[in-house]
Amino acid sequence: MNRSNPMRFPILAALLLAVGCLGLAATSAQADHHGKLKALILDGQNNHNWRATTPVLKYALESSGRFAVTVSTSPAKNGTKEQWDAWRPDFKEYDVVVSNYNGAMWPKPVQDAFLKYVKEGGGFVVVHAANNSFGNWAEYNRVIGLGGWGGRSEKSGPYVYFDKKTGKFVRDLTKGRGGSHGSQHPFIVETRNADHPIMKGLPTKWLHARDELYDRLRGPAEGMTVLATAYSDPKTRGRGAHEPMIMTIDYGKGRCFHTPMGHADYSMKCVGFITVLQRGTEWAATGKVTLTKVPDDFPTAEKTSSREIKK
Ligand code: ZN
Repeated sequence: MNRSNPMRFPILAALLLAVGCLGLAATSAQADHHGKLKALILDGQNNHNWRATTPVLKYALESSGRFAVTVSTSPAKNGTKEQWDAWRPDFKEYDVVVSNYNGAMWPKPVQDAFLKYVKEGGGFVVVHAANNSFGNWAEYNRVIGLGGWGGRSEKSGPYVYFDKKTGKFVRDLTKGRGGSHGSQHPFIVETRNADHPIMKGLPTKWLHARDELYDRLRGPAEGMTVLATAYSDPKTRGRGAHEPMIMTIDYGKGRCFHTPMGHADYSMKCVGFITVLQRGTEWAATGKVTLTKVPDDFPTAEKTSSREIKK
């Protein structure tokens, strides 16, 4: 039979068009992610306003041009079993995971996938109250080095602070609670390890925008390097010690970048916070920092500097 099928051409054309579109879609996705690190922000529960802070974290990372950011939002506190069973962030698909989460314990499969991910070389970033999470989860506390609240005490590990007289960090096993803070205020962040790639080239003292200054954090603090501290002045109801503000922790083949700064959106809009978050997240993802330019609007020791962020 040699009768031509009038439908043949349209079907073929539609097929070619569909294949062509798929090809284009794949190309643009690759171009989108070309050279960018894939970052996953976790939120969904926090005693802080995560709906206001996650967009600032996302802006901070994306505005560097180095990251493509995805957000995974957990079920709410009253989430159903079905919702929790459906929440399975695929950590291994990302170069780095950023936690803005402080809430209910994750389901066991998520805990296991998270530890496997970090142990095998994944990057993890802890911001502010994410270090309040999981006070009784020993391995999580090894990953983050130090934490506060969540039932933390001397059983969680030492207090860690910088002693100006000796120029060394103290591991203090005194009994007591883990985590406290005074009133919010702008405070000086002071570099303690200027050679680390996250700190290189940054002013060694800068005035961070209004924030909570976490003190009395405690934890295993194994494989931890403190890169900068801030003084918890008794005048603002602090405990009177130089508290870790920027830290790195080695865990298995993975890397954790931890900052207890970032109480609110206005704290995170600080150019110092944004810069350190970008560098720290890149370091957690790759072990290197290519974002070496110091922004022109970086704060000085006398003056805070914050970005206007359009949503
Ligand atoms: Zn806070």
